[in-house]
Formats: sequence, C-alpha cells, structure tokens
Amino acid sequence: MPGEPQDDCLFCKIVAGHVPATIVRETETTVAFRDINPQAPTHVLVIPRVHYRDAAELAAAEPAVAADILREAKAVADEDKLESYRMVFNTGSGAGQTVWHAHAHVLGGRGMQWPPG
Ligand code: 5GP
Repeated sequence: MPGEPQDDCLFCKIVAGHVPATIVRETETTVAFRDINPQAPTHVLVIPRVHYRDAAELAAAEPAVAADILREAKAVADEDKLESYRMVFNTGSGAGQTVWHAHAHVLGGRGMQWPPG
C-alpha cells in the first residue's frame, strides 16, 4: 500500500530504527540523515516517514509532507552553516535513483557545477 512501511525498504528500516544511520534532524513527518557515501562535505538525505517510491508519488499523495521535505532541506543547510546548497531528487533509474523510497539529497560545502552529470 502506498504510504505504508515496506518490509524490504532500506529507508523504512532507517525510519523504524532497525538500520543505523547518522540522523541529523527528525520531525513528525521526516527524517534527515547523512548519506553513507557522501558526494560533498554536507550530503544529507531528507526522507518522509511514509513510504512512496519517489518524490512525484509523495507530492501527489501527500503534498504537505513533500513541502516538509523542502523546509527540512533548508533546516539541514542552516545547521551545517551552508550559504548555498543543492537539492536533488533522482527520480527513476535513468536519473540515478537506487533507493525506491522518496528522498531529497541536500549537498553543499563545495563548489557545484552546472549542468550536473
Ligand atoms: P539515490 O541513488 O536513490 O538517489 O540515492 C540513494 C542514496 O542512499 C545514495 O546516495 C546512497 O549512498 C545512500 N545510501 C544507500 N544505502 C545507505 C545506507 O545504508 N545508509 C545511508 N545513510 N545512506 C545510504
């Protein structure tokens, strides 16, 4: 069921506390934790507690929670004292999505190139 925890989902396990993660912020609707394979000095994943396969599904089903993720990205950037940051939602395997639970990457602390690879 969309929105329900999935037994085989890594990020649902992190939300439940069954897989350890370096959690930086938690709210009623979101969890933010450091990426295990950081691509920048700050690389934090902000995820909804509810399970949707990607950001588009989350936004369609629970737009308030999608907005919470945008707000939490800014809070993460503020905590790490970032003047600017990049937020990325890889959506679909061709775009690099590997974990099928909606998440925002919050990247900062180094210069960024555009366009991204
Ligand atoms: P995606 O490729 O789906 O956009 O992003 C998934 C992210 O999850 C990757 O950046 C990857 O490094 C991160 N990741 C995968 N497994 C784990 C894990 O067990 N713990 C943490 N903290 N991050 C993970």
